[in-house]
This record gives sequence, structure tokens and C-alpha cells, in this order.
Amino acid sequence: MRSPKNSKGIFITGSDTEIGKTFVACAIVRSLVEASIQVGVYKPVASGLSDLESSDAHQLWIAAGKPGESLARVCPQSFTQPLAPMIAAESENKIIDKQKIISGYDYWRECSEFVVVEGAGGLLSPIAHRLSNADLAAQLELPIVVVVPNRLGCVNQAMLVLEVARARKLPVVAIVLNQTQNHTADLSVQTNFELLRATMNESDFSAIAVHCFAYRQQSLRLFDE
Ligand SMILES: [Mg+2]
Repeated sequence: MRSPKNSKGIFITGSDTEIGKTFVACAIVRSLVEASIQVGVYKPVASGLSDLESSDAHQLWIAAGKPGESLARVCPQSFTQPLAPMIAAESENKIIDKQKIISGYDYWRECSEFVVVEGAGGLLSPIAHRLSNADLAAQLELPIVVVVPNRLGCVNQAMLVLEVARARKLPVVAIVLNQTQNHTADLSVQTNFELLRATMNESDFSAIAVHCFAYRQQSLRLFDE
């Protein structure tokens, strides 16, 4: 994708949970802000948090320069238990409001040039009954960015997600190979990028970009603004 202006946003997903989606999302947001793009940030649902201040939503909001009217707009539905969102909601005798997920996105769509949405869990993780992250990305008509941890086994993880995206006709902007640890004995970290690139090229995914993301890298430019 040459310019973020070609799209109204991106949906950040991952091959797993706890693999640095928020870190990568914040880095992308910072580079868009640096390019003078008015960025909205949205985390439709979150679980496993006691307060919004220490949340993914808060990090995204700070990276974007605190846009919109409040932090609550970034994540309208959050739950305390570290469980899948719908189960965490049930544990509080609540249900995930699907309409609120969409109206929460519409808010950012209306007041931003570009919206960065961070999903919950991986691409096929359920957000609500009959609503996976893949379903939501399709509903919002957003192309996906897939975060994959740079470790042994990541080529398989990346290819599984790409095959699912293809089967569901979800456009993929990029794979981001995220180095999740500063020091690691995992030798594959040095060769995963080349192996993934070659494997994708052999599987008709050659048009999809792969970015190597260093440990705690602060910005990531996905587009030629
Ligand atoms: Mg996150």
C-alpha cells in the first residue's frame, strides 16, 4: 500500500496473544503522526485490566497524541478478568455489545483521517458470539496487519494467518516480525525473515510486505506517505 490515504485505516491482529500487537500498533501510530496524519485509535474490547490507565488503549491514545474527546472512546468495553473478552464479560454478568463495537469505530472514522484498530487476541479469536477478529476486520472493511513473534515456528504461524486471510478475502497490508525479547538464545531470529520472505514468495504472497521489528522499536513506517 503506497499511502495511508488509500485506506481509511488498518486492523492490527496477531498470530497469537501477548506477542506485542500494542507495541507495534503504537510504533505505526507514531510514524503516521510524524507524517502529520490525524490518527484515531481504537481497541474495540479489552479484557484482563483493572483500569484504563494501564491498558493497551492508554498506550495507543498516548502514541496518537491523545486524540478525540477521551480515553474511554478508545476502548468503550473493557473487562477485568484475563480471559477471552466474551468470557470475561460473562464473569461480570455482562455481554459484549456488538452495536457498540461498530458505533465506537464510527466515532473515530468521523473525526480522523486514518484509524488504527487493535484487535483482541489473534485473527480467529472470538470477540463476541459469532464475531471473530477476522469477522470484525471484514465488517469494518479494514485491511489487516499481522504481528508475529520473531521466534522458531513463526513461519508456520505467519503462513497459517495468511491462508486464513486469503480464504476470507481479507486484504493484508503487512506481516510484522516482532522481536519480543532483547536477548535470546533462539538462533532462528537471525534467519526467520529470509525464510518467511522466501516461503511467502513461493506461496503467492509475494505482494505482501514483511517488516522486521527490532526489540522495542519506537516507530514503524508501513506507508510511503
Ligand atoms: Mg495489546
